[in-house]
Amino acid sequence: MPLEERHIALIRAAAPYAAIDPEKFSALYDRLVDLNSKINVTSVTDPAGASLRHFADSLSLIKTGLFEKATLCLDVGCGGGFPGLPLALALPGLSVTMLDATKKKTDALKETCELLGISNVAPLCGRAEELSLPGGAQRERYPLVFSRALARLDVLCELCLPFVSVGGHFIAMKGRDFKEELKEAKSAIALLGGETVRIEDVSLSPGVFDRIPIDEAERAEANDFASSGRALVVIKKRRPTPAAYPRAFAKIKKKPL
Ligand code: SAH
Repeated sequence: MPLEERHIALIRAAAPYAAIDPEKFSALYDRLVDLNSKINVTSVTDPAGASLRHFADSLSLIKTGLFEKATLCLDVGCGGGFPGLPLALALPGLSVTMLDATKKKTDALKETCELLGISNVAPLCGRAEELSLPGGAQRERYPLVFSRALARLDVLCELCLPFVSVGGHFIAMKGRDFKEELKEAKSAIALLGGETVRIEDVSLSPGVFDRIPIDEAERAEANDFASSGRALVVIKKRRPTPAAYPRAFAKIKKKPL
């Protein structure tokens, strides 16, 4: 079942700053549904839900303006392909490395790219805290790193900031609890060489979907998405991450910085 015109309209209304090719996003949707029947990557597979919670949500990163300059970026813990895949589709000039610890998922990602003719994604399999160790090829390699639904911000920063080159940015995609998470993560961010420079509010005004001819259930879903309190925490890498970080995952988790 392809995406209908109204679903494409939902993505466009929610992410007006992104260029949406309906055929490509429809193909990505079909692939997501097919993949999910084989390996479980998401609980959201209805057309309106996937259009908003996966596609538009991923594209909201563009609102930071940081993609205008960056050409190389990293998605940490990409799972079924979010946010990296929609970004790669919308921004063909971007090179997106997509990292996940589960081989099944990075293999599926490779297959998705072959099926959809996506040539600007490089799947990478491994654990974040191992690949970003000092001396490794991935350490401080990326001017732009982002992640969705991987961990709370303190843990997340230790998993992601070591990948960011000095002067680059890490964007954490967060929900309405971001203020509390920021408080918890304050010392971790400083220790790892970062500084929170901005919170980008990506919630939408309630009327944004009014003119789109969606059914009642879809409207409820769209309004819920609009008011879900999503925010992007933008952290700038000011100094190199000290060689002691990242620690082993058990330590990161047991005693966040
Ligand atoms: N970003 C996706 C998936 C979130 S689920 C989305 O928002 O839909 C978190 C993913 O991170 C899982 O696929 C899991 O395999 C991966 N993951 C968890 N810990 C990791 C680690 N230490 N290094 C790399 N990937 C990790």
